[in-house]
Amino acid sequence: MKLVPRYTDIAENFAIEDFPASVASPQLLLWNESLAKQFNINIADDLRANIFSGNEQQAIPAVALGYSGHQFGHFSPRLGDGRAHLLGAISDDENQLWDIQLKGSGATPYSRGGDGRCALGPAIREYVMSEAMHALGVKTTRCLAVVGSGETVYRSLPQAGAIVTRVATSHIRVGSFQYLATQGDVEGLKNLADLAIERHYPEIIDTGSQRYLAFLGAVIKNQVKLVVSWMRVGFIHGVMNTDNTLVSGETIDYGPCAMMNSFDFDTVFSSIDKQGRYAFGNQPNIANWNCARLAESLIPLISDDDEQAVSLMTPFINSFAEQFNTQFTAMWAQKLGLSGAHASDDELIAELLTLLKGSELDYTDTFDALTESLNGEVLMPDVLTQWVIKWKSRTDENSYKKMRTANPRVIPRNHIIEKILAEYVNTGSSELLGSFMGVLSDPYFTNKNLAEYRALLQSDKNYKTFCGT
Ligand code: AMP
Ligand code: MG
Repeated sequence: MKLVPRYTDIAENFAIEDFPASVASPQLLLWNESLAKQFNINIADDLRANIFSGNEQQAIPAVALGYSGHQFGHFSPRLGDGRAHLLGAISDDENQLWDIQLKGSGATPYSRGGDGRCALGPAIREYVMSEAMHALGVKTTRCLAVVGSGETVYRSLPQAGAIVTRVATSHIRVGSFQYLATQGDVEGLKNLADLAIERHYPEIIDTGSQRYLAFLGAVIKNQVKLVVSWMRVGFIHGVMNTDNTLVSGETIDYGPCAMMNSFDFDTVFSSIDKQGRYAFGNQPNIANWNCARLAESLIPLISDDDEQAVSLMTPFINSFAEQFNTQFTAMWAQKLGLSGAHASDDELIAELLTLLKGSELDYTDTFDALTESLNGEVLMPDVLTQWVIKWKSRTDENSYKKMRTANPRVIPRNHIIEKILAEYVNTGSSELLGSFMGVLSDPYFTNKNLAEYRALLQSDKNYKTFCGT
């Protein structure tokens, strides 16, 4: 594995050299063969556990990155990688660089008293959820491996420990900019923005003095796109803090995430999200808010005059809502296969959502049934009968294909994920994971028997998720 250093020249104390702690008895539990192939990683089976537990030191030093974060709206100036080590970056077949990071690999200078460890369940959740999101076509960090540590981590109950290997086009967070801005490190901010532009937005490199404004605009555009794709598949991130928001527009941090089953914009599963800040339908507001925090951090790069910087950036921040509304409307039009655009479409969509919410209908299964109803006889809930008549008059011969590419047949349902985690925790492997990954390889068109992966009759009303520590 040929690693190149990352982030070491951004600013002093931005990337701190620090080595993963050795673990007692590393055991490879999950290995992402297709991702390994993409990076030409040819490591013998028996060496993988040692490398991706952090037990084997690499040719270049690992680093822990500093970042700040607004957590549930409250600012923490110094968070950082408290349980993660970035080994470096690796190049794929197209010369694109990818960060390779171990999570759960021991305490770092940013641990703030934490143990630097990760329990097995959350490690498996990160692997399965990120692979599912990737299969669904949502931009996301990926996972290369999960290695059991053979050690116990102590949470409310003792649990098996694990290390997950995360792969991302970068680990540059909104909180990374906040970290440098808080320290008044303008040079560091510039270095970080330049790196982010080079990695993620090469098309704006030549925008001269406007490049940092263009960067803000590009991040906003990608955040809008990301949240729309989350909402299309029913994903609730659960902890959209600024430290969990990547400027690349990839989904990161699968701690308390969950999938919405019965449709309701107010759906919240995270046990610590008491106010519903990160509810399903509030995700666009929060992504917008996070972009405003990025803008604040960029002020010194935009103008020497703070007021001028703010007035230059405000239109970009304000454009979030309009961009989102346009794409959100387009998303529903695609999910319903609408033919052209009609003045009455907003009403048609709103009426359906009210029916879904009122009857607690499953989001995924209902849109799948609507899609398949254009292809043959499908049993539909009675409450939808009148609405379906109206809707069908708005479809045409292209509707089925449009809908099929927007409405997944299978998603990583909460009860499936919990079952997979329980199998791993109890036996160290999961048969269900294999068959589930099989249907997920083609989540929009699969014709496999999906009975096992449909919504459960009892909804997820009492389902709770926890931060993956
Ligand atoms: P997260 O909730 O995973 O986004 O983490 C928020 C912050 O807490 C980050 O700075 C993490 O590095 C830190 N953190 C989470 N769990 C641990 C842990 N077990 N040990 C040390 N730091 C942690
Ligand atoms: Mg995080």
